[in-house]
Amino acid sequence: RFITLEGGEGVGKTSNMIYIQSLLKDKNISVLQTREPGGTKLAENIRQLLLDKGQESIAEQTELLMMFAARAQHIRHVIKPALEQGVWVVCDRFTDATYAYQGGGRNMALSVIQWLENFVQGDLRPDLTLLLDAPVQLGMQRATHRGKLDRFESEKMVFFEKVRQTYLTIAEQQPERVKIIDATQSLENVQSQISNILSPFIHD
Ligand code: C5P
Ligand code: MG
Repeated sequence: RFITLEGGEGVGKTSNMIYIQSLLKDKNISVLQTREPGGTKLAENIRQLLLDKGQESIAEQTELLMMFAARAQHIRHVIKPALEQGVWVVCDRFTDATYAYQGGGRNMALSVIQWLENFVQGDLRPDLTLLLDAPVQLGMQRATHRGKLDRFESEKMVFFEKVRQTYLTIAEQQPERVKIIDATQSLENVQSQISNILSPFIHD
């Protein structure tokens, strides 16, 4: 099983990743937790290049291709081998983030992203995607309080509004795969929602 976690800034992806992992481990499921961009040595290096503020500005096309370059490594060296061994993979962000950020946020053509998705992933798609959703302002406030404002996060609200809307559109179009979780609730409530969504997955 391949599960991904998605959402904008400050929606609590990190804490909930930890929760999902502990939930699956309690059911004696072997889990591999990973993230994007990143997940291999080379892909983490690409991540560093993407997040580094001190360099020249990155063209949108460059950003998109770097995302998929990192993803190709991640799939080849980490995700596929794990899935082939029956290990569940839980990934913090995946291609929906590319549709949301590079597509919705940076206006890269949908057809190009779809082409790259097929090229890089073949038929690999997440079995389940949890979308943590919160109004942009709330997420930004949380992220700012953590002092975590990187190159991406310091950009304007309009950008994040497009990101959020793109995520919601994907969820609307693929309701079987993508489950929206209201991230404005208490962590406790968010986690019980996650647990409810995961339980049929665990038991079938
Ligand atoms: O998931 P995390 O918050 O650690 O991601 C780091 C940064 O990379 C985020 O600020 C996010 O906005 C950005 N990002 C992006 N496009 C992606 C994935 C992540 O702009 N496809
Ligand atoms: Mg995080």
